[in-house]
Amino acid sequence: MENYEELLSRVYSKLPKKEGTGERFVMPTVETVTIGHQTIIKNFGEVAAALRRDPKHLLKFLSKELATPANIDGNRALLQAKLPQRSIQTKLDVYVKEFIICRECKRPDTRLEKAERITILVCEACGARSAVKQI
Ligand SMILES: [Zn+2]
Repeated sequence: MENYEELLSRVYSKLPKKEGTGERFVMPTVETVTIGHQTIIKNFGEVAAALRRDPKHLLKFLSKELATPANIDGNRALLQAKLPQRSIQTKLDVYVKEFIICRECKRPDTRLEKAERITILVCEACGARSAVKQI
């Protein structure tokens, strides 16, 4: 026979994680350095982790938006063009609006789900689901 505490913890463990809800969203800042004709995002791994997104998805977006080939090198991302930090940061803002912020409640507690040929933004705070652009 389980006691009350055990029952409570079992019930709570079944609830969706409230992690991050109610907290103000902090936009990560990209740290870049330009070497020759290459721009390196030094903290790319951290940025993707802070956004809780697949680095490959984020990179594909940036590559397309900035019209430049890009690849991941450990924690860094290498872009094959000279780009000011500001341009990359601006695109990151676009990414956050499109792929992170819930359309309904405006919270960042979301995840992406792939379904057939579309990607859906699922909100862990309010449960809203909305299709996002394919990249
Ligand atoms: Zn929501």
